[in-house]
Amino acid sequence: MNDKVALHDMTLTDLSQGLRDKHFSSSELTKHFLERIEQLDPQYNSFITVTSDQAIKQAQAADERLASGNAPLLCGIPVAHKDIFCTQGVKTSCASKMLDNFVPPYNAAVVDNFEKSGAVMLGKTNMDEFAMGSSNENSFYGPVKNPWATDSVPGGSSGGSAASVAARLAPAATATDTGGSIRQPAALCGVTGLKPTYGRVSRWGMIAYASSLDQGGPITRTAEDAALMLNVMAGFDQRDSTCIDLEVPDYTKSLNNSIEGLKIGIPKEYFGEGLDPAIGAAVEGAIKQYEKMGAVISEISLPHTQLSVPAYYVIAPAEASANLSRYDGVRYGYRCENPHDLQDLYMRSRGEGFGDEVKRRILVGAYALSAGYYDAYYNKAQQVRRLVKQDYNEAFKNVDIILGPTTPSPAFKFGEKSQDPTAMYLEDIYTISANLAGLPGISLPCGNTAGKPVGLQLISDVFTEERLLNAAHQFQQHTDHHLQAPADSANV
Ligand code: GLN
Repeated sequence: MNDKVALHDMTLTDLSQGLRDKHFSSSELTKHFLERIEQLDPQYNSFITVTSDQAIKQAQAADERLASGNAPLLCGIPVAHKDIFCTQGVKTSCASKMLDNFVPPYNAAVVDNFEKSGAVMLGKTNMDEFAMGSSNENSFYGPVKNPWATDSVPGGSSGGSAASVAARLAPAATATDTGGSIRQPAALCGVTGLKPTYGRVSRWGMIAYASSLDQGGPITRTAEDAALMLNVMAGFDQRDSTCIDLEVPDYTKSLNNSIEGLKIGIPKEYFGEGLDPAIGAAVEGAIKQYEKMGAVISEISLPHTQLSVPAYYVIAPAEASANLSRYDGVRYGYRCENPHDLQDLYMRSRGEGFGDEVKRRILVGAYALSAGYYDAYYNKAQQVRRLVKQDYNEAFKNVDIILGPTTPSPAFKFGEKSQDPTAMYLEDIYTISANLAGLPGISLPCGNTAGKPVGLQLISDVFTEERLLNAAHQFQQHTDHHLQAPADSANV
């Protein structure tokens, strides 16, 4: 380990080793990150809540556990959790006024897994309200700024998680991905984001947006770190009926496998109209790099790509309209002042508690599910979903991995797309179909354009995260895009 590397520039592997070799303690490490958050986060707004006191206590406990000699790998390492994961005794807002006063009495399964492994929670990261958005402009707590260009968005909905990792305010963070919310902000912030297979990570205690699409995963700086995080996050949980009872491999074990002969498919539909040429060029560079490393490249077709966005924007709002019906001002969350009857209580609590985008989704979803339109919209969208899945099934008969850009454009300026929902929804054109098909996908940095990072996306078949992490790690062993960092103005 190189002693000259600043604590905040170290990978999880290095931090874990450093703790074990007593180069620093978890308490020192945790204080270092808390100081950076205090100094730098006012410019980025990547945290909604910083849990300093709890973090320091957890770090002390981790130091004791480390001293005992048999602590898990992430013991003592600070991480940040997206504010969609319930945290016992700590406000969990989902970036909504509706949950601004919500303090859960329990931890999400993912949060529990980190606690058991001795990781330290730095706080809860900012996001789009109820995970609806691609720019983090829909947060009740204000937008998150992209650390590479503070006039631009960090992506969404996990913009706070991506920005905090990019700005080195947290070594790693948890996030969720319903249509791209791990991969798209990871791409726009120049970090690595893994959306696991649907059912790999428990959704218990993760506030529901669209239950058949939502999946938790890590945002880190490297694929190796993502493997370490997934080791902690993945696993069966009987409290989530869609969580799959399948053994969790050690995701770090296969990172160094050779990728000689790996069959990579390039979908021609991902390189057409709407793709920023600079993104296309950076991805072409990545393809050449994979060829150099021995992968076998071929062109493939995913013919229903164009239909994935409209299908998603029926299915996700439909599920959201049902999931968000629980926020009624009665049980928990925001309640309007002085309601004059029950109807008024419902209407004003929801009217005042939800932001515009959330209301738009609820209206669209309720409409698509209504008796008169169910067949025309919801059923049709489910049929398209099946076609999208079949495209992938066909493709995976011939290739191991599908490679393309993560997003059509780099980080855009605040306000640029927020008045045009369709333009904003197209941000997810390359990420949404993996959610519709339940597939794992990873975004990793592969270059930059005018100082803004470009993301490369790899998608593989269900439960083959090892293959994705292996391919991503090998790329990172031969390139340095993931080592680039935004300018740092901190003194710590
Ligand atoms: N941008 C997409 C949406 O707004 C995806 C969000 C997500 O993955 N949570 O729904």
